[in-house]
Amino acid sequence: MARYDVVIIGGAIVGSSVAYYLREHGFSGSIALVERDPHFTHAATTLSCASIRQQFSVPENIRLSQFTLSLFRRLKEEFGADADIGFHEKGYLILASESGVPILEANHRVQQELGADILLEDAPALQKRFAWLSTEGIAAGAYGRSGEGWFDAHAMLSLFRKALKTRAVELIGASVTGIGREGKRVTSVTLDNGDTLEAGTVVNAAGPNAGRVSAMAGIALPVEPRKRSVFVFEAREKFTDMPLIVDPSGIYVRPEGSVYITGGADPEETDGPADPQDFEPDWPQFEEIIWPLLATRVPAFEAIKATRAWAGHYDYNVLDQNAVIGPHPEVSNLIFANGFSGHGLQQAPAVGNALAELLVHGAYRTVDCSPFGYERIAADRPFRELNVI
Ligand SMILES: Cc1cc2nc3c(=O)[nH]c(=O)nc-3n(C[C@H](O)[C@H](O)[C@H](O)COP(=O)(O)OP(=O)(O)OC[C@H]3O[C@@H](n4cnc5c(N)ncnc54)[C@H](O)[C@@H]3O)c2cc1C
Repeated sequence: MARYDVVIIGGAIVGSSVAYYLREHGFSGSIALVERDPHFTHAATTLSCASIRQQFSVPENIRLSQFTLSLFRRLKEEFGADADIGFHEKGYLILASESGVPILEANHRVQQELGADILLEDAPALQKRFAWLSTEGIAAGAYGRSGEGWFDAHAMLSLFRKALKTRAVELIGASVTGIGREGKRVTSVTLDNGDTLEAGTVVNAAGPNAGRVSAMAGIALPVEPRKRSVFVFEAREKFTDMPLIVDPSGIYVRPEGSVYITGGADPEETDGPADPQDFEPDWPQFEEIIWPLLATRVPAFEAIKATRAWAGHYDYNVLDQNAVIGPHPEVSNLIFANGFSGHGLQQAPAVGNALAELLVHGAYRTVDCSPFGYERIAADRPFRELNVI
């Protein structure tokens, strides 16, 4: 039976980042990265909207994004002269109705304390800044002047995966079907090809499938797949200054090259666990809910042509829509990196770094991720992020 010091389940952005930073922090033990989907066809990473923001309510989430932003700023230094993830630093614009203003202001204070470059503006100022915007029903908005925008998720994943090839990480193409456990330790990982890997430490980086993987070790993790559709549309007008807009209704829209993408969560009453095989975009959601809201917010979007759509699964933490990071309090060699609920791509490098610090140096050094620990799950004590998009 092969033995690895660390077995990582899931080789997309989170798993790859954990492996990468383990090596960056000088980890010399053996690492296996197990991935069942060789082309990442159904990974949240490759189906995401690949956007990064500083506009969170929880300081730790801001710090995680700031770590990733600093990586984007020195990408070529880190990954070589050819490294390019096409970062468009165009900002987020989070809009609030009258009743949402106190929350927007409270979040803004937290963001300011951490040095995020976010402007809080009232409706007339927003109207002046963005002539194409309708401020009907809007009292204020928070606009990221820098440090926010979107990028190419495939390019980012490729950078990490390519870097692993020279860092002695065993890439194993298989599906994990079982996790062996003896009392307070996980001991092995069973694969669908019949192999069993003995494991010193197991990292769960299985994205939307993380709840099922955790259950293999007999541990409940409230992370489930939630389907999110993304619609691509063409419009006559090209608004080159358009940030990623988040409407108070919860829908978002942003430019993507010469077209636009848009989406939003289902209403809470109908949002629930997705069938893991269902990647069919929800076209009625676009026709009945999203389009009318888009046309209200940006009147030029009354005449648009939807050209295609895709659907992906959020790795959704049902308890509080925040990540679960770090070891299980009792089964301490089982490590979580799960439940990012729509903001995991931008957090992945920071989380990989944090877990590498913990595993190599015994403590978080750059961003204290202890508030994201499993302890809160066990205690049913939410650590809630208010800005979930
Ligand atoms: C539509 C959409 C839009 C999003 N927009 C954004 C955004 O703008 N910004 C942002 O930061 N985040 C966004 N996200 C969230 C983000 O994509 C995820 O949080 C992040 O990619 C999670 O990365 P991951 O590596 O944990 O999961 P994944 O990318 O899903 O990777 C998990 C991997 O584990 C593998 N796996 C699972 N089970 C097993 C098993 N048993 N054996 C072997 N392998 C297994 C899977 O095949 C998969 O490749 C979005 C997500 C979606 C769906």
